[in-house]
Amino acid sequence: MSRKRATNLASSVVVSGQARDSSGRVVLCRGKARPLWFGHPWVYANAVERLDGEAAAGDIVSLVDHDGHFIGRGIFNPRSQIPVRLLTRKDEAIDAAFFAARVREAQALRTRLGLPNSETTAYRLVNSEGDSLPGLVVDVFADAAVLQITTLGLALRRDAIFAAVEATLSPRTMYEVAAGSYAEVEGLVAQNRVVQGEPRNLVPCLEDGLRCEAEPLAGQKTGMFLDQRPNRMRVGQLASAGIRMLDCYAYAGGFGLQAARAGASEVTAVDSSPRAVARIEAHAVANGVPVRAVEADAFRFLETATPMSYDLVVVDPPKFARARKDVEAATKGYERLNALALTVCAPGALLVTCSCSQNVGAHDFERIIAAAAKQAQREVRIVEQGGPGGDHPLPPAFTEGQYLKVLFVYVS
Ligand code: SAH
Repeated sequence: MSRKRATNLASSVVVSGQARDSSGRVVLCRGKARPLWFGHPWVYANAVERLDGEAAAGDIVSLVDHDGHFIGRGIFNPRSQIPVRLLTRKDEAIDAAFFAARVREAQALRTRLGLPNSETTAYRLVNSEGDSLPGLVVDVFADAAVLQITTLGLALRRDAIFAAVEATLSPRTMYEVAAGSYAEVEGLVAQNRVVQGEPRNLVPCLEDGLRCEAEPLAGQKTGMFLDQRPNRMRVGQLASAGIRMLDCYAYAGGFGLQAARAGASEVTAVDSSPRAVARIEAHAVANGVPVRAVEADAFRFLETATPMSYDLVVVDPPKFARARKDVEAATKGYERLNALALTVCAPGALLVTCSCSQNVGAHDFERIIAAAAKQAQREVRIVEQGGPGGDHPLPPAFTEGQYLKVLFVYVS
């Protein structure tokens, strides 16, 4: 945003702590509406020409192009680099009925995909922009719902959102979890808590027939990493009796559990978090499969592991690149990690390697694997690619939402 525009926006801002449908109208610069006409839900600060009328952070505003054509209505936050996020393309009120309808639509999409079902009761019900609710994630673990709200506009409308989830699911326990780094950027407050219903630390649920317990209050994110479900299931199919499997950055151990159920002779799951290790051990017992859980830094573990000693290796690290400025260091980190992972792969092994850094693109990640192979002096071929499941939908124009890349690599 130019200095002049920033001043224009800031001077019209009224500070209020309430959820309001304001009269404010955000006008885009000429030529900046195109992505929005194609379904992109975000307005970047540099696309805003001015705010007509008044709007406070968290208010609902209307969005128009430079010629005044109505685009939609969305949540406003001049603190953010994304001052408007669209909620609707209709000129409608954003009220309790609106949220109830959005959550029902989200549920209809999951029902269409066969979720939940007798084998899988853990799934994502609301995926933020993918369900036209920017800044809201709702993960369902059997009879519990876990909400994470990361935009001020939705945080101010929490009660309507809780009511919408209650009306759709009637969960036995509803949780809210903290907003991470978004809290400060957006100027909102959120902490891990039970919103309503029976307070429980662990919530039993099923993934592909495997028994798991999500840990919403004390775990990471909402309590489980649901985006990887299809890739965990694929690993189960690619594992066969007698193989030696290594699951790095295992969290609850989902990849390793799949391999163990498929009859792997040896499954080692590595995570640096003692809580994660406890969960992996509990999950192995609950499913009656042998998994050796190791509390260790994955780099250190791989550096000291026996070369060529595994037939299936998964590496699923946390985001290395949080921002654009981290990309160079992250690229080096991924390269080193994957070179180490390739070194422990036996000839004929599969490496399943993941990146959840939005700032590292799919092609960048392929180049990283090529560089890692050169470093490790191994020959590799990409045999499959994976991403999140259909319960993580996205508008096609919204490439910013594409973060998870999974490459299935055959190692000669
Ligand atoms: N594969 C998991 C999700 C992994 S999330 C699944 O399918 O559910 C990333 C995990 O990496 C977290 O559990 C975190 O505790 C762990 N982690 C973070 N830094 C680590 C490190 N240096 N070494 C090992 N594990 C690490």
